[in-house]
Amino acid sequence: MNDSLSCRENLLGLPRPQLESFVADLGSKPFRARQLMNWIYKRGEGDFASMSDLAKDFRAQLAVRAEIRPPEVVKVQSSADGTRKWLLRADSSQAFEMVFIPETDRGTLCISSQVGCALDCSFCSTAQQGFNRNLTTAEIVGQVWLAKRELGEFSTADSVDVLGDSHSPRSGSSGLRERAVSNVVLMGMGEPLANFRNVVPALRILLDDFGFDLSRRRVTLSTSGLVPQIYKLAAETNVALAVSLHAPNDELRSELVPINRKHPIAELLEACWHYIDEQNGRSVTFEYVMLDGVNDSPAQARQLARLLAGHPAKVNLIPFNPFPGTRYGRSPLPVIQRFRDELIKGGVLATIRKTRGEDIDAACGQLAGKVIDRTTVRLGSKIIGVAVSQ
Ligand code: SAH
Repeated sequence: MNDSLSCRENLLGLPRPQLESFVADLGSKPFRARQLMNWIYKRGEGDFASMSDLAKDFRAQLAVRAEIRPPEVVKVQSSADGTRKWLLRADSSQAFEMVFIPETDRGTLCISSQVGCALDCSFCSTAQQGFNRNLTTAEIVGQVWLAKRELGEFSTADSVDVLGDSHSPRSGSSGLRERAVSNVVLMGMGEPLANFRNVVPALRILLDDFGFDLSRRRVTLSTSGLVPQIYKLAAETNVALAVSLHAPNDELRSELVPINRKHPIAELLEACWHYIDEQNGRSVTFEYVMLDGVNDSPAQARQLARLLAGHPAKVNLIPFNPFPGTRYGRSPLPVIQRFRDELIKGGVLATIRKTRGEDIDAACGQLAGKVIDRTTVRLGSKIIGVAVSQ
């Protein structure tokens, strides 16, 4: 990348008020910001020269002072089940990933918020690489912009499908053509609430009518349980909240999710109910990774049900996705089903997350190792564990 480019303001990182100030600094009227957003987010245009309803002078100024730059793609992989994964470059030796999971009635894009993670959850492969850096707002928003472009969502009916394969939503009959990316989940790499400063502006752009215009119920932030930041989030935005619970008591949770030593379950649940009250939300989704012989017994399911019954909660059981060097194994399906049934009996809505794209998980590990460094091998095997509820 050339240096003059990197000095330009990447407009993908600016929510509307900041874009209005930027445009005002260039001597233009604030409504130009909305026109610009229309080109960027509704039409997927990345070249100022093509923004035909903007004055020529303004376009020339933008070309000097600004850019629309998504993360650079290192590798794209497609699974037999239609799941697609992009390895994206953060800088010379670091990479992160995003995953697109198509279903008949929706398309979910799972994006990353950090390179690495500092929280050290014992069953998570990202934890092994430690924390590298926060992604910028432009890198977070840029993932969604890039995916929509790659999936042909911005294209007009007669334009070419850039990926040109049978898994493209453009070639399906599912109605996804109009909105290939109907849902966005911050469940990729990193802890989004540990990157609050960059994540919240990104959420604003995702929800803004002039931005990606996603409904708040179709944007989900997943956290390992940073309690003070959940309260802060409630004051700032109203996206759907998912919380990685993984254990029905403090003793076990502190072992699996070390942040629990600082913010134990009772405090965490208080913050969750506050979020729902404040945001008039429907429910918090509690993620629970199913670890063979660790947290998957019927007694533990009953303990979990006692914690959550009567509250605006549902549980999403995630079959553990093993990675090299892990001491954990995946609970067998009948054990997971029994656990789900116990939760339902205990008055808690529960679903089993369908694992998608397993075939490119293995391939990803090998490939990323060659392309970038060993770090990405680990993150590759982790992120693909993210999938969608049945
Ligand atoms: N840091 C955030 C978001 C990223 S992880 C959080 O903790 O919620 C997204 C989900 O994948 C979390 O529920 C996480 O616990 C889960 N996860 C991590 N490693 C996993 C693995 N090896 N197998 C299955 N799920 C895993």
